[in-house]
Amino acid sequence: MSDTLSVAWALAWIRGAQAVLAENRETLNDLDRAIGDGDHGENMDRGMKAVVGKLADGAEDVQGVLKVVASTLMSVVGGAAGPLYGTAFLRAAKATEGDVDADGAVAIVAGALEGIVARGKATTGEKTMVDSWSPALDAAKAVAESGGTAAEAFRAAAEAASKGSDDTIPLRASKGRASYLGERSMGHRDPGSLSTTLILKAAADAAEAA
Ligand code: ADP
Ligand code: MG
Repeated sequence: MSDTLSVAWALAWIRGAQAVLAENRETLNDLDRAIGDGDHGENMDRGMKAVVGKLADGAEDVQGVLKVVASTLMSVVGGAAGPLYGTAFLRAAKATEGDVDADGAVAIVAGALEGIVARGKATTGEKTMVDSWSPALDAAKAVAESGGTAAEAFRAAAEAASKGSDDTIPLRASKGRASYLGERSMGHRDPGSLSTTLILKAAADAAEAA
């Protein structure tokens, strides 16, 4: 395992994310069917397949990979998730220079969260993907501050995102489509918090294999 993550890691991350989102397409659709319109799995699957197609010839650096993810998701995925993830990856790209160490991992997660909040105006506790990205950032920061590696920072982020996703289940949605259901949104996992968890797990898996 190397301490800094290069463009090869970024490509492996995004290809891994595409594979795991494809595998979870129906799960994500089912979650979105319960509190939304049932298309979150389809949106992410279509978007990430397009991304991987665009990355077929590789990219110059980590920033280049993240930029392709951003622009492709923005143009290919409709609904809430396209612009939200598109802005997330755009800010993550802007926060990245060269290879990624633990502070770079924190910068990527921080950029993503910033982009999502700038776009969607949600805070934690509103039953959105912010409930996974926000604890993920805290966990990554803690690892970086205690001298951990980028891989450890992404692993901690993924675990915190997963816990944050579990914690969306009892919440009442107050942003996005699920908010139309009011109290009936309670008792269901937010689909975007699961796609976020899968994306961060893919980052950690690729980092551990790098
Ligand atoms: P749509 O809601 O347009 O059908 P998707 O189903 O693809 O789009 O995405 C739904 C997910 O988007 C939700 O599960 C939630 O995590 C996320 N989301 C929706 N609105 C917001 C928002 N304002 N801020 C952050 N995340 C949001
Ligand atoms: Mg939907």
